[in-house]
Amino acid sequence: MLPQDPFAYALSSNQAWAGYKGHQNPEFFNKLAAGQSPSILWLGCSDSRCPETTILGLQPGDVFTHRNIANIVSPTDINTSAVIEYAVAHIKVKHVVLCGHTSCGGAAAALSDARVGGVLDTWLTPLRALRAAHRDELDAIADDKARAARIAELNVEAGVAVLMANATIREHVEDRGLQVHGTLFDIASGRVRDLGFGTSKGAKMGADTGGAGIAGGGGGGEVVRGRHARLVFRTDGAAMQVQ
Ligand SMILES: [Zn+2]
Repeated sequence: MLPQDPFAYALSSNQAWAGYKGHQNPEFFNKLAAGQSPSILWLGCSDSRCPETTILGLQPGDVFTHRNIANIVSPTDINTSAVIEYAVAHIKVKHVVLCGHTSCGGAAAALSDARVGGVLDTWLTPLRALRAAHRDELDAIADDKARAARIAELNVEAGVAVLMANATIREHVEDRGLQVHGTLFDIASGRVRDLGFGTSKGAKMGADTGGAGIAGGGGGGEVVRGRHARLVFRTDGAAMQVQ
């Protein structure tokens, strides 16, 4: 629980974090300040439970990001398009990851006939169209959470289709093997699952690597943090080592 003033707490937390990071790695902020070369563009939901860098166990500088309500990829949204253009054509990320999630408020709203109000109904129109297109399948799912998770998956599939039709992305897929992935973050377990859309057919990210990357004592890995367990990142993958 946060104390009375969440903003004041956040600022003090930032001070502590910056001190911790600087102590842990004195070059950390100098390197960050020198520039960025992230390998991943993450397109996700604005939901506070889906902070991409945190849930991926990565660090500042690792993930270029665009998030909006219900991770909707609209080809006419100049915001999303500008982020994609910069990340793909200028930063030259290697992976574009679209990630939906369970318990998405946007998905739940799209499954309801009630108006949300303001601009939100307009924004959620693509999701409502998706609901209409898959009405039989969705109506057959009795559990509300499961139905919301399913429309979140369908939304990722539709979003990946938009990404794969994006002219810049197509060019970079062809020219340099840019990869596009559709994924779903399960909030209840903390796991990101590769849905197999886009250029990655059946590739896995996250926990399903089966422990192949369990660290045996360094080997070029960087120990990140943890009292009872530590995350170890190596060139061949990341893993958690329980102490
Ligand atoms: Zn969401």
